[in-house]
Amino acid sequence: MGQGYFVLGNGGAAIHALKAIRVAGYTGELHQISDDSGRAFNPMVAPYFLSEKTGWDTCFPFGENFIEEHQIIAHHGDKVVALDADSSTISTASGKVFSYDKCLIATGARPVMPPIPGLAESRYALPLREPETAKKMLKSLSTASNVLVLGASFVGVKLAEVFLKKGIRVVLVDIASQVMPQGAHKHAAQHVETYMSSKGIDIRLSCSLSRVDDVPDGAICHFPDGTTEKVDFIAVSAGIRPNLDFLDTEQVNIARAVCTNQFMQTNKPNLYAAGDVCESFDRLSLSQQWMGTWGNACYQGRVAGMNMAGSATRYAGSISQHVSPVFSWIYMQIGDALREGPAVKYEESGDPFTGPYKIIIYDDDVVVGANLINNSIDLAWIKKEINKGLGLQSEVV
Ligand SMILES: Cc1cc2nc3c(=O)[nH]c(=O)nc-3n(C[C@H](O)[C@H](O)[C@H](O)COP(=O)(O)OP(=O)(O)OC[C@H]3O[C@@H](n4cnc5c(N)ncnc54)[C@H](O)[C@@H]3O)c2cc1C
Repeated sequence: MGQGYFVLGNGGAAIHALKAIRVAGYTGELHQISDDSGRAFNPMVAPYFLSEKTGWDTCFPFGENFIEEHQIIAHHGDKVVALDADSSTISTASGKVFSYDKCLIATGARPVMPPIPGLAESRYALPLREPETAKKMLKSLSTASNVLVLGASFVGVKLAEVFLKKGIRVVLVDIASQVMPQGAHKHAAQHVETYMSSKGIDIRLSCSLSRVDDVPDGAICHFPDGTTEKVDFIAVSAGIRPNLDFLDTEQVNIARAVCTNQFMQTNKPNLYAAGDVCESFDRLSLSQQWMGTWGNACYQGRVAGMNMAGSATRYAGSISQHVSPVFSWIYMQIGDALREGPAVKYEESGDPFTGPYKIIIYDDDVVVGANLINNSIDLAWIKKEINKGLGLQSEVV
């Protein structure tokens, strides 16, 4: 018999799970362990906070009194350093050992630092994930005139825009040959790249840094061709890695992230995982995938919480979707726009510089994904077509 239910982490997945556990009727001891303190942070809002479009409070969407209202025993500011899934025990950095009846791993992910000499040690390399890094970046922005954004991910593209609009010179660098390499078809990405360049962002693709050297007032970024850029800071947006170092891979199944079933359960029946730390069901590929989005994290957390409290709930899976303003454009990605294979075709129409644009990806004549720019009209039927291909006509994505 353990000390009750435990939720590890303090992000969207953890908070939705804690809430669901109580809503589903569990009245026993409910513990939360997290290495951060205070209110749960939504990193997705951070770029809007940096642009000063939203205030600091908007980054904390769950209210001041969440812990008290849900009768949670909070162990904040303490890091989980080991989880023994055989004995159902958790050890923390402060030396505490807890024994759980059921536990949810919702420890999210952290930014990756590409292996560029001098980058990880640089005082001017700033990834954006936690409240402290958001505040640090805002402070640096107040005096910055040159910034390098490392990684043209969705986040990198957004940050480049935010910085440019503050009058800062921006160099956007990615080792990939296109912007938004994780989700955008290369034709749509080319339009976004041309548009961002026209706004004044210096975009360098198929390119990385060979070294970073700190100087007293910034960092010197060295390029492989021998040129350099002196910048006030480097915004690192080069991908994420799940926080699962405290798990034993002999005990818990891990692929790219923690493996879960449709109940968000790991291979251990009393151990669950949700959010960026886990892989979950992707409706399009009908396989386990690492999703890494806010909506999925919250949904998975809710499902895990319901199941922990004994209310059997299946995670229906999701189809990847991303909508983002890029200057005055609206960029959308739905499904798998990167699909490759002998039966893959695409249909492209419109010009985003003058009107709506779309590129639709077909596999074996079935719609599997699309990128739309300034085109909300086509979104509904494309979603319907993707679902139709999955035999899910009656469901809304
Ligand atoms: C800048 C930025 C912009 C983004 N924009 C979008 C967007 O436009 N759309 C979208 O859908 N998604 C976006 N995302 C992704 C989205 O924010 C994440 O998918 C989501 O926040 C994941 O939630 P989570 O609860 O799984 O993890 P997290 O929010 O990472 O929370 C993990 C929690 O676990 C704690 N923790 C970690 N390790 C330990 C440990 N060992 N012991 C104890 N506690 C630990 C952390 O402190 C944290 O409280 C963005 C992310 C970033 C960083």
